[in-house]
Amino acid sequence: MVVGDIATGTEVLVIGGGPGGYVAAIRAGQLGLDVTLVEKDAYGGTCLNTGCIPSKALVHATDVAHEARGAEHMGVYADPAVDLQGMVDWKDGVVDQLTSGVEKLCKANGVNLVPGRAEFVSDDTVRVAHGGEGQGSESIEFEHAIVATGSRPIQLPGFEFDDDRILDSSGLLSLTELPDSLLVVGGGYIGMELSTVLAKLGCEVTVVEMLDDILPGYEDDVTRVVRERAEELGIQFHFGEAAQQWEDTGTDAFVTTEDEDGETHEYTAEKVLVAVGRQPVTDTVGLDAIGLETAEDGTIETDDQARSSVENVFAVGDVAGEPMLAHKAYKEGHVAAEVIAGEPAALDYQAVPAAVFTDPEIGTVGMTEADAADAGFDPVVGEMPLRASGRALTLDESDGFVRIIADAETEFVLGAQIVAPEASELIAEVGLAIEMGAQLEDIAATIHTHPTLSEAVAEAAANARGEATHTLNR
Ligand code: FAD
Ligand code: NAD
Repeated sequence: MVVGDIATGTEVLVIGGGPGGYVAAIRAGQLGLDVTLVEKDAYGGTCLNTGCIPSKALVHATDVAHEARGAEHMGVYADPAVDLQGMVDWKDGVVDQLTSGVEKLCKANGVNLVPGRAEFVSDDTVRVAHGGEGQGSESIEFEHAIVATGSRPIQLPGFEFDDDRILDSSGLLSLTELPDSLLVVGGGYIGMELSTVLAKLGCEVTVVEMLDDILPGYEDDVTRVVRERAEELGIQFHFGEAAQQWEDTGTDAFVTTEDEDGETHEYTAEKVLVAVGRQPVTDTVGLDAIGLETAEDGTIETDDQARSSVENVFAVGDVAGEPMLAHKAYKEGHVAAEVIAGEPAALDYQAVPAAVFTDPEIGTVGMTEADAADAGFDPVVGEMPLRASGRALTLDESDGFVRIIADAETEFVLGAQIVAPEASELIAEVGLAIEMGAQLEDIAATIHTHPTLSEAVAEAAANARGEATHTLNR
């Protein structure tokens, strides 16, 4: 202990108050454990403060304006003015409401909240620096620790974030004036969601992606729908190019990229968003002091109980690796707390959904047809195109489809890929089906409300059985 420190003790110490950490802390509190949560910045972590919530708030706000603007063919004439400062203020209000909610929930569940930066000094003690002059520090002894320190954006060499020309997602989400032009480096989750927002607001957006398509990992027919819609919004794509360097012209960033043949390409844009992935925050927590080595990519390897190689130390959320998604972090936080409380909890990743909040949205869960074949199943596939969905047509949103994968012999549902408005919501039904070991008939025979997009999920399941009534059977 450092002289002057106040020493306290806790059964469970959680480092980081994002979705992984705050859920772990609340669950531990519910289970009667004495729990302390240390957070250095803001409760809610990346997700609530600079990630999921602010980005989805802006996705929605821009949709409101965009839909109104493009509705003349429905007999609606409107040209809404957009005040970006007003949008950002509204988004910040949503964030404040949720982050204060997290703080209240933690307190209501008996979680002891300690502001500050925690660092391990031994396998049963952390030192928490409270930050700011005269704020001091304290040592906290623990029986179990849960590392939930999240992730930060990967910094491309030569493209240091400066909050002016070269922005990460947080910088972009805080802009209060719309740039005339934006160059996006990386056509992944962040690149696609935020270029859609900016393009809808009227900014000229160009995406440079190193690979040959957007959203690596998603199937071609899934990305095609989203890419084509993005192109209709005016977004220009340049594939097979990696960003190399940039110069400030005084008014713009002048960026050069290089393609696979070594040829250089040049772009000029007022702002540059660099979104080339995120890396775990494991280098500032003092893992050396507890003898915990990270994997080559910086993540903490864990078992199916979220336990690291150090018996009393758990890791949850982005620090524990891909997929770096808030709901995966929640689940791991739950499991870590329950394991510490002596419950027989374990992680099972077979039905982790993913959603991309583009236009239209993408929602996936479980296996693709190729995954199912690789895993030794004989996959049967059912599809429902959105153009055959009454609800999709009434929403004027008929691009996309619902696809369900099942095992041909047993008809157990294995996965789904949905490209549709509200795909992020629709995918939940298939997640539940996989989780419950449901068969195609369970979904197909369930009466779905009419007219809704969810009917397309039931029709896709029926289609896999050759029994669809609103689309032709394959
Ligand atoms: P974080 O949320 O990063 O929280 C970690 C916390 O630990 C932070 O508050 C940090 O201050 C704190 N911390 C770090 N080190 C210390 C220390 N030494 N001491 C004390 N505190 C510390 N995911 C989705 O599922 N859906 C989405 O729509 C989505 N959209 C996103 C949009 C953007 C722009 C971004 C950037 C991410 C998005 N994500 C989304 C990913 C999601 O935000 C993360 O997966 C999630 O936040 C991970 O939670 P976590 O608890 O592991 O880490
Ligand atoms: P990403 O991994 O989704 O995409 C990064 C993209 O950058 C890839 O397509 C990659 O090929 C490309 N790239 C890498 N280096 C490049 C270079 N030098 N030049 C050009 N392209 C390059 O990463 P992200 O978009 O930064 O998002 C980070 C993570 O945040 C995601 O993986 C996801 O886990 C999470 N996230 C989730 C959501 C959601 O759930 N809806 C939304 C946003 C972010």
